[in-house]
Amino acid sequence: MRKTLYIIGLSTIVFSCTSQQNVKKNTYKPKTPVVQPKTAVKTQTPEAPKPKVVSDHGVDFFTTNIADPTKNDNTASYGSIVSAKPGGYKVVKTYFPAVAQNFRQRYLILHYTAIPDDKSITVLTQQAVSAHYLVNNMGDNEIYQLVDENKRAYHAGVSSWRSDKNLNDTSIGIEIVNAGYTTDAAGKRTFAPFSDEQIRKVAALAKDIVIRYQIPATNVLAHADIAPTRKQDPGPMFPWKKLYDEYQIGMWYDEAVKQNFFAIAQEDFTTRYNEPSFVFLIQTALQKFGYGVEAGGKWDDATKKTIEAFQYHYRPQNYDGMMDAETWAILQALNQKYPTK
Ligand SMILES: [Zn+2]
Repeated sequence: MRKTLYIIGLSTIVFSCTSQQNVKKNTYKPKTPVVQPKTAVKTQTPEAPKPKVVSDHGVDFFTTNIADPTKNDNTASYGSIVSAKPGGYKVVKTYFPAVAQNFRQRYLILHYTAIPDDKSITVLTQQAVSAHYLVNNMGDNEIYQLVDENKRAYHAGVSSWRSDKNLNDTSIGIEIVNAGYTTDAAGKRTFAPFSDEQIRKVAALAKDIVIRYQIPATNVLAHADIAPTRKQDPGPMFPWKKLYDEYQIGMWYDEAVKQNFFAIAQEDFTTRYNEPSFVFLIQTALQKFGYGVEAGGKWDDATKKTIEAFQYHYRPQNYDGMMDAETWAILQALNQKYPTK
């Protein structure tokens, strides 16, 4: 379907170029308009370059990435090409690669480990959980790879975002060594900070991944975003705004748009807070943004935890899980900026 749309889109561009040429020519010779034959148009369409494939020790490798952002999903990558070796037969790559293919890596999910460096390595390599990358907290320049990017790591668990579920299948996971949180007598969580070195590592790694797989901003998420009733990580100390401002990674709202919504939101919160229709409106807005929350019209526990996850990410100064005018204004500003397609 996407392929068909692309072809239609390309044709439109080509034809609009052709008609511009005609208009130009018409200004010189108004009585004899020149109509370009379709074959002439075809010759103007550039041939897509074939990715170079080299062989080393019986394994074929792409040496270039011919990913084309204008196509959105027809891509070929760097790295090794996994092929069958059927007994008695030869697998040939004469017609390789087909245009209709895409990356399975469509999400980038960030986590904290909640345990120190040495334990993080043990747990993520020896137990039933894993991530593609582990960012340590040792102030060096190393990032540990634990799982091949083409393989599934077990980091997301039961999860959802917009219409997608079980995001282990379609994501790259990055774990960051961090102590997580402590809870005081009143139940308030206090989260441990990340070091600047860690954030620089995460940013460089995330940037590399989102560019190679063309992962959209709407799919760069916290574990808490995709599993809000179970998870908090990477929590409110993770600087999402810095990643957006300095590295163009992930989503963030526009301040002026937020202020516009805030003026109206203040009124809503003095008059409508407990109206089921208002709660439903907010739950629907959370769903629209991507969260897997039920819209039952009540301030239930799942809704509170979802609001908390949203606040960790976009309003980390106060993450009490209570919807307020500022949180509501930010949510609306984000929904306007990143509409569901
Ligand atoms: Zn996690």
